[in-house]
Amino acid sequence: MKTLTKYSIGLGDRFGHQGNAQLKAIIEASDKGIIITPVWNKSNREHNTIGTEPVDVRIEADSVTKNAGFKNPYFVDADHINLDTVDRFIYCSDFFTIDVASYIGKEAGEKEITEFLSGVEKYTGDLNIRGSNLSFKTTKSQIRQIAEKYLFATVKAGEIYRKIEKAKGRGNFITEVSMDETPLPQTPVELFFILKMLASENIPVQTIAPKFSGRFNKGVDYVGDPLLFVKEFESDLMIIDFAVKEFGLPENLKMSIHSGSDKFAIYPHIGSIIKKFDKGIHLKTAGTTWLEEVIGLAESGGEALDFVKEIYFESLEKIDELCAPYADVIDINVSLLPSKKAVSEWTHEKFADTLRHIPENPDYNPNMRQLIHVAYKLAALKMKDYFRLLEANEKTVSACVYENIYNRHICRLFGIK
Ligand SMILES: [Zn+2]
Repeated sequence: MKTLTKYSIGLGDRFGHQGNAQLKAIIEASDKGIIITPVWNKSNREHNTIGTEPVDVRIEADSVTKNAGFKNPYFVDADHINLDTVDRFIYCSDFFTIDVASYIGKEAGEKEITEFLSGVEKYTGDLNIRGSNLSFKTTKSQIRQIAEKYLFATVKAGEIYRKIEKAKGRGNFITEVSMDETPLPQTPVELFFILKMLASENIPVQTIAPKFSGRFNKGVDYVGDPLLFVKEFESDLMIIDFAVKEFGLPENLKMSIHSGSDKFAIYPHIGSIIKKFDKGIHLKTAGTTWLEEVIGLAESGGEALDFVKEIYFESLEKIDELCAPYADVIDINVSLLPSKKAVSEWTHEKFADTLRHIPENPDYNPNMRQLIHVAYKLAALKMKDYFRLLEANEKTVSACVYENIYNRHICRLFGIK
């Protein structure tokens, strides 16, 4: 049976050119004693925007690991799939992130709800999370509300899971269930009953991605109270632990954090909590490798700098169209975006420093960074030139990609000095 190891990282590589640099970061971590399983993830939305096929990610992952002589496991994640989009991912993926967000709130039938409620009656009143000092008060009506909100979504997850299982065979792939792309976070009590529902559907879920409090905007830091996050994260870990024993879920079930990359304010907290409780983690990062490509091209100067400036100018014109699909996961203050006139005068250094996520740098601008993050479609429209420039400036670009994954993500999360 395919099982995910304790630590894993989801890596996005929209244009399929940075697998080597990403893997180099994983290998460097392993030299420092932190063994991480790389998982290359790309969503249906990204494939559609760029015009790639899921098999392209498989080809990249296979070839970079082969070239590097990488002997540890690695996976290819069909990211955020549902019943409508899973088909084209099935044959080439071995990790599936079943996204149930759009099914949350749709009510299951009364018969199913009643059946579920009768199976969880013993958790009414005092819900004591064995093995921790957590306990919750629950009421009948509260549990009914949870069932009304989530039961249908978990039944759908079961349908999607079985579709994949039928094609690939049980145990031949990793299953994640995600519900992070929803307006409201799930509480620890909700998570407990959701895990019960997934167990009833007989889904061998190995990673679960809830939505946490605070904002996880793409490519920029966490917005919210890190200490509130810590409390929530710790409670969820205890819930998972208890649910594994109570409902017979896979022993290695662990938390998946769809970080949107760059959550520097909470990485050290996550790292110390998983160390304290000896837990695993799957940290999914977004396609910020693309941002590093833009930064690397800017640094390279000349034609490459002109190319990325042009991308920025076009993104200003098409801002509404580019931002619409990402409305829930970006926060751009348009009045703080530099003008075309200003940017056209910028040096390579100024452009790179504005985009690179180093908060101490006075030039860093999270608004421009988020806009460029969603502007990858514009490079996809000039793919031939874009790839030519990436290849001509490979050394500079891949150094940016490596530095970002290794120093800013892995080192911060795992406390590597
Ligand atoms: Zn997600």
